[in-house]
Amino acid sequence: MLKTDQIESPGLTVVLEAITPEAEQLIERACRTCYLSFHRYNPPESTAELIQKVIRKQHHSVLEHAVATFRVKGASRVLTHELVRHRFISPSQESQRYVCYADKPGRKKTRDFDVVTPPTFKYGARDFSEKYLEAVQRCYDLYEEMLDAGIPPEDARYILPNGTTSEIVITANFRELRHFIWVRTNQRAHWEIRQLAIAILKIMKERAPIVFWDFQIDEQNMTATGEVQS
Ligand SMILES: Cc1cc2nc3c(=O)[nH]c(=O)nc-3n(C[C@H](O)[C@H](O)[C@H](O)COP(=O)(O)OP(=O)(O)OC[C@H]3O[C@@H](n4cnc5c(N)ncnc54)[C@H](O)[C@@H]3O)c2cc1C
Repeated sequence: MLKTDQIESPGLTVVLEAITPEAEQLIERACRTCYLSFHRYNPPESTAELIQKVIRKQHHSVLEHAVATFRVKGASRVLTHELVRHRFISPSQESQRYVCYADKPGRKKTRDFDVVTPPTFKYGARDFSEKYLEAVQRCYDLYEEMLDAGIPPEDARYILPNGTTSEIVITANFRELRHFIWVRTNQRAHWEIRQLAIAILKIMKERAPIVFWDFQIDEQNMTATGEVQS
């Protein structure tokens, strides 16, 4: 595992679980099929030239031959709800029907209950984080009380907040990853999904530097900009 295959931002862990081997060369070979120009196949020199040329020409479908899978831990269900709107990202997400936050008769605790606290809750003289955590605790206590009374977890969970953390594994091809990064590293995107998109971009810039060459990360503002719209 490369150092960049696991990115830790405050509260969020993103791990590269799998990636197409020699992905960029595979994309080049697939792309050369369009022109039957295999006599020009001479990686790594020929790879950057061809792939960046086709990306600039919006010939994006060749990027669909390579895929990557990421495990995301510590994200809120706010983030995961935004994430699953991307129709070409395949998710497998922790279920609130089967995961158990405490030992119960006939059910074993799977993990601790946890929430994400937005950094804006504590800003300058204002501090809502304590009140928020107290309200969360009241919701969680009611959740437990309902489970103890025999309410099924799939219904008791209605009381759990959007901030509840949720583990998710996602798989997407490089075309969709470029698109996801394009729309979700933008200043207009919500800070939490921006954090995820930047982490994925860092991994992809290391693992597929040719395909993601045009994205520049602005660490201070937690944004990125690309040269070619995807
Ligand atoms: C800043 C921001 C604010 C947002 N605010 C809201 C909001 O207020 N409410 C809300 O509901 N959503 C909101 N969204 C979510 C947004 O509308 C999209 O659902 C989400 O970003 C998924 O992106 P997508 O549809 O481009 O791409 P994906 O689902 O990732 O698909 C990739 C691309 O494939 C193509 N494609 C996919 N499916 C189709 C299709 N059926 N027909 C034609 N082309 C298709 C499109 O070119 C698309 O861009 C917001 C997103 C952002 C970034």
